[in-house]
Amino acid sequence: MKSQRAVVIGGGVVGAFCAWYLRQAGHEVTVVEAKQFGSGCSHANCGYVCPSHVLPLTAPGVIGKTLKAMLRPNSPFSIRPRLSPHLWRWLANFALRCNRSSMLEAAPTIHQLLQSSLQLYEQVLAAEQMDVQWERRGLLFVYQDKHHFEAYHEVDQLLSQQFGVPAVAYAGEAVRELEPALKPGLAGGWHYPGDCHLRPDRLMQQLRQRLEQRGVTIVEQAPMTDFLRSGSQVVGVKTAACEIPGDCFVVATGAWTPLLSEALGVRVPIEAGKGYSITTTRPPIVPQIPLILEEHSVAITPFHDGYRIGSTMEFAGLDERLNPQRLELLRSGARHYLAEPYTDQVQEEWYGWRPMTWDGKPVVDRAPAAGNVWIAAGHNMLGLSMAPATGKLVAELIDGEVPHINPHPLSLRRLQWA
Ligand SMILES: Cc1cc2nc3c(=O)[nH]c(=O)nc-3n(C[C@H](O)[C@H](O)[C@H](O)COP(=O)(O)OP(=O)(O)OC[C@H]3O[C@@H](n4cnc5c(N)ncnc54)[C@H](O)[C@@H]3O)c2cc1C
Repeated sequence: MKSQRAVVIGGGVVGAFCAWYLRQAGHEVTVVEAKQFGSGCSHANCGYVCPSHVLPLTAPGVIGKTLKAMLRPNSPFSIRPRLSPHLWRWLANFALRCNRSSMLEAAPTIHQLLQSSLQLYEQVLAAEQMDVQWERRGLLFVYQDKHHFEAYHEVDQLLSQQFGVPAVAYAGEAVRELEPALKPGLAGGWHYPGDCHLRPDRLMQQLRQRLEQRGVTIVEQAPMTDFLRSGSQVVGVKTAACEIPGDCFVVATGAWTPLLSEALGVRVPIEAGKGYSITTTRPPIVPQIPLILEEHSVAITPFHDGYRIGSTMEFAGLDERLNPQRLELLRSGARHYLAEPYTDQVQEEWYGWRPMTWDGKPVVDRAPAAGNVWIAAGHNMLGLSMAPATGKLVAELIDGEVPHINPHPLSLRRLQWA
């Protein structure tokens, strides 16, 4: 395969792994980033690389539960009403998919992306000796309510029987024996021993260093505004700062992708699902296992040099405000489950825009703009967990190789019909 000049637009975790595998395939690679490499949603997320998350959000009964939750003033889920036909179309499509058959249609592809990415992380991190605080301690779903804890049995059956991803149940006090940082009196927990975690900002720093060592050029503060065209082909990227020529192009701009609709020749229906995180120093009694505090939808990640509480989902467009009430929801959620839920020494308060599609799957496909433009965006709540497989798939498709994952369920067309 002839070496090409590949330009990746977007320096998040997805763009970084596209650049990685394109470079490995022998291409000359440039990453074009609007702000700083790794400054988007990939910066301070919860760091889970979690093959347990096979099922998309579109589960049966989710609409009822969400509407009920939204009536509470402290709901982790919120929609800021606005006159956006795109948002309402997105919500209508999401609602239509909240059934068992749509959920099971999306799950096998998500499962493949997660499984492949886990293997690729282990390969790349070991081969490159990257220190990203990688740990395989699993992920523990913790419940206050006995009924909720027991109801999860059905999901566990599905995941273990259909996807080979079983959890171990710890009822009552057994969950505190497994994770002594929890408060007494909880109903129990389900532990996925195969899940891993890492420190996302470390990963982005180290990926950047390794990419640059291999000759990848990273151009920052250069938002792409359009493509440069010659006839029906795209021959370069126009940014606010410069023009960058290329032979093939990968748009990995996460939640910003709809802003490039004109250049791409299509509006990719991605909505920003805003989430927050607070990173503090490690509390004296710190969990050893990453936790999802289920009733409050709060995630806890212990790092070697810090501790993170994250989550909430707000559909408020590309809203840049750091809302103190949403941050307080994280703290109050953690207080219900943990003896020492956080410290007052805050290292960072942060928000990120998850690139949400209505069926839970990303888009990995050619753009209508031209045959040499690809889109790799819309990784929902799992971009960190799916990025290596996405990057590998993109490089395989560009090189015309047999893809290691079937790309058809990731087509753009599936999102254009509805
Ligand atoms: C609170 C929270 C917790 C999360 N926890 C997890 C988790 O534990 N595990 C997990 O797998 N996922 C998690 N996620 C989701 C994950 O963070 C995202 O799915 C992932 O970061 C998306 O990566 P990306 O590369 O597509 O987007 P981004 O990281 O947002 O990168 C896109 C980049 O494109 C750049 N860009 C945009 N427009 C242009 C342009 N015109 N020109 C050039 N550059 C442009 C942006 O500046 C940005 O840097 C979490 C998200 C949140 C908010």
